Amino acid sequence: MEVSLREVAFTCGRCGTPYRDGLLVGGYGRLVVRDASGRSPACADLLADPLVDLLASVQAERSALFARVEAAPTDVVAAFLLLCDPSPTGQPWDRDALPCCPACGAPPDRSERLDGLLRVDLPELRHDGLDALPRAEQRARAAAALRPAAAPPTA
Ligand SMILES: [Zn+2]
Repeated sequence: MEVSLREVAFTCGRCGTPYRDGLLVGGYGRLVVRDASGRSPACADLLADPLVDLLASVQAERSALFARVEAAPTDVVAAFLLLCDPSPTGQPWDRDALPCCPACGAPPDRSERLDGLLRVDLPELRHDGLDALPRAEQRARAAAALRPAAAPPTA
């Protein structure tokens, strides 16, 4: 999927190498993430992905069930990323991960937004593993992934 990213100048926090990469600004339902090591950028169109419909439907049922208690807000994007297939190197997705240093792989410690836009063609996040499960199991996994937004991440 082709996306427009804002060009950003990074400086490696370990070896000091300067490098450029792109970050999504705004995005209108688009999501661009990297894996936990800052590699393998991938994207999703949340407005078109049927997994978001599943999450919304499970969440709506839960809200109806617990209508009399205040429903805790849940983090649909976090649940979406949990249910996607892992990165090519088997890592979980991390929407806060910044592009890592091309020389040593460490995260940046400085960044500066530039004016340029980068048009990049990124692979789409897939959830073939989830899609292959029976519908009831998909719903159970969606329910488990939809946890309150304030809860600490489970390891
Ligand atoms: Zn480095």
